[in-house]
Amino acid sequence: MAKRPFILDPLFRALTTLPGVGPKNAKLFEKLLGGPKVLDLLFHLPIDLIDRRFAPKIKDAPNEKIATITVRVDKHFPNPKKSLPYRVWCRDETGTINLTFFHTNKDWIQKQLPEGQLRVVSGKVEYYQGNPQIVHPDVVTPEERASLEILEPIYPLTQGLTNKAVRKANAGAFAFVTALPDWLDRAYKTRQGWAEWHEALRSVHFIPSPASQNSAPSPSGRGQGEGLTKARERLAFDELLANQLTLALVRHRQKRKSGRSFMGTGLLREKIMAALPYTLTRAQQRSLAEIYMDMEQPLKMLRLLQGDVGSGKTIVAAMAMIRVIESGSQAALLAPTEILARQHYEGLKPLFETAGIRVVALSGRDKGKARDLILQQIANGGAQIIIGTHAIFQDAVEFQDLGLAVIDEQHRFGVHQRLALSEKGKAADVLVMTATPIPRTLTLTSYGDMDVSRLDEKPPGRKPVDTRLIPSEKMDEMMAGIKRQLDAGARAYWVCPLVEESEKLDLAAATERYDILKHFYGDGVVGLIHGRLKPDEKDAVMEKFVRGDLKILVATTVIEVGVNVPEATIMVIEHAERFGLSQLHQLRGRVGRGGDKSYCFLLYYPPVGETAKERLSIMRETEDGFLIAEKDLELRGAGDILGTKQSGMLEFRLANLAEHAGLIQAARDDARLIIDRDPMLESERGKALRVLLYLFERDQAIKYLGSG
Ligand code: ADP
Ligand code: MG
Repeated sequence: MAKRPFILDPLFRALTTLPGVGPKNAKLFEKLLGGPKVLDLLFHLPIDLIDRRFAPKIKDAPNEKIATITVRVDKHFPNPKKSLPYRVWCRDETGTINLTFFHTNKDWIQKQLPEGQLRVVSGKVEYYQGNPQIVHPDVVTPEERASLEILEPIYPLTQGLTNKAVRKANAGAFAFVTALPDWLDRAYKTRQGWAEWHEALRSVHFIPSPASQNSAPSPSGRGQGEGLTKARERLAFDELLANQLTLALVRHRQKRKSGRSFMGTGLLREKIMAALPYTLTRAQQRSLAEIYMDMEQPLKMLRLLQGDVGSGKTIVAAMAMIRVIESGSQAALLAPTEILARQHYEGLKPLFETAGIRVVALSGRDKGKARDLILQQIANGGAQIIIGTHAIFQDAVEFQDLGLAVIDEQHRFGVHQRLALSEKGKAADVLVMTATPIPRTLTLTSYGDMDVSRLDEKPPGRKPVDTRLIPSEKMDEMMAGIKRQLDAGARAYWVCPLVEESEKLDLAAATERYDILKHFYGDGVVGLIHGRLKPDEKDAVMEKFVRGDLKILVATTVIEVGVNVPEATIMVIEHAERFGLSQLHQLRGRVGRGGDKSYCFLLYYPPVGETAKERLSIMRETEDGFLIAEKDLELRGAGDILGTKQSGMLEFRLANLAEHAGLIQAARDDARLIIDRDPMLESERGKALRVLLYLFERDQAIKYLGSG
């Protein structure tokens, strides 16, 4: 890998080189910042700002607002007991205010606030029994107010670190911040009215630049606000550009890797089409045409197939695999769980076999001789289609000639995993399928290396799912209603949420619910499925539910992905207020898959907050997954939608995907243009862009550039 440009070295120093960061609190800093270096501190942006320039008279100081007030110290009322506060009465010509101290050194208070003297105090004003007071003022100073005209950034903190400590370290860090070669397109930067990188960074931390050290901050709050927005925008764009540049490089390198084109013969395709009990929807046909076009081209396919639950992605993937088989190569279908892999295998095998195609299943559970036999078939071409879990891309698996890898339900597959997979298949085409409709902006940031097909139309005959919000006190009524439906032959899911991210409590809650339901609906018809079960135990329970031996399946969120039981028409989601929209949508998608009317009961426990209420009512109003995803991004942010927390997928530190959505397309267009013209980043701007890639530690891109 090429070496980091030395101009960045100061930013990559250890935090412990900063004032106030020692061996003791370095760990806290690292925990807070997610990294051990100066740059991690610089990228830790304030979430709020205290404006100490607001300097009202006492009678005009509003409740709950930070104010900086010049007062004369009137009288001390020391606390008679340790547990009581020490109060200092102060006044100006408009009224009186008291400063209140708990557990504070008396000598210090008396020294800071001598009776009869003028003092400037600053802090949050609160009204207590009709009188204004400031509890523990942030600032007490004899100086003239002018020296207090500051904007104080407030940082996200962690226990044990004060805002003051972070600010101190930050001020020190700016000693290392210098101008960097600008990687932005000059014309674009001018049009946006953006400052230099180091200036923008100063602005967002409210560090005055050396040139303007002595000038007071702009008195117009508005000017300051605009400048801040611009500075934030610029930093966000830098991060998005580094991201898009990486994706463009990946794309460039991947695309040119392959020289094969799969024309197919159409023979197998015809057989399969004849065996299908339905015709493809227009969206399916369109997506398939896009896929075939990619496959025919002598470039590697990198395509994302987006489609809501039930939109019929599987058959599209199957038709794509068939084309590869027609051309004499192999195809693999990867699912994230054993259950899903099994379901794909069982669903697709009969269809493929009508066309005489040899299909094998491979999972982590296959051991010993059986496994060896499967591996052999994969290696000698005896198996044409391989369906399984991620075990497929373990090192022992050698394909005879993998032409296409289809990855289903891949929101756990980051760009690194996609790359690992395609190394395996060398020049194999890649089709990624996602049932999590993703907002457009997220598609660009997470799959910017891919082309996109969307299934935005469902197969005909689907009835809308009747979605209802049920407060917990109506649970009994709901249970009775469900009983009537079960007696009439329905099947139901009952989902219990993650409790505080703890698998143990999670399981306890589900188990408790399971016992209650067993008692109510009768032993033998209620099943329980959760993350602690072994794969074959899980499958056994699932199978009973599929067969109808079980009528209610109590589940933790393990059923979230893909499971298809058309007879299930009822979905109960307990504590629905704790779920994100995308998750609720995925869960609801488990029902409404057969011909019968389906219900989704969102059981919530009042009182619920405003955002949660909004989430729940959006669920009642729409079933459009793309719309729901956009709302989810608005309400919760990106990480939750993609489940990045679990997958270690990319998160942005400076860009807010909802707020800076408009910049993403620009960054992508810019990045693709650059890479088309200068794929090795050798021009003058290209060299500056290399600095950007190092700044954001885009290792993948750096590796590509280093290896020529
Ligand atoms: P998903 O996109 O969630 O993976 P599936 O591929 O599992 O959806 O399809 C859901 C159901 O719809 C399956 O039972 C499948 O057989 C059926 N299906 C798919 N395409 C069509 C179609 N064009 N017409 C009718 N049914 C279809
Ligand atoms: Mg599917």
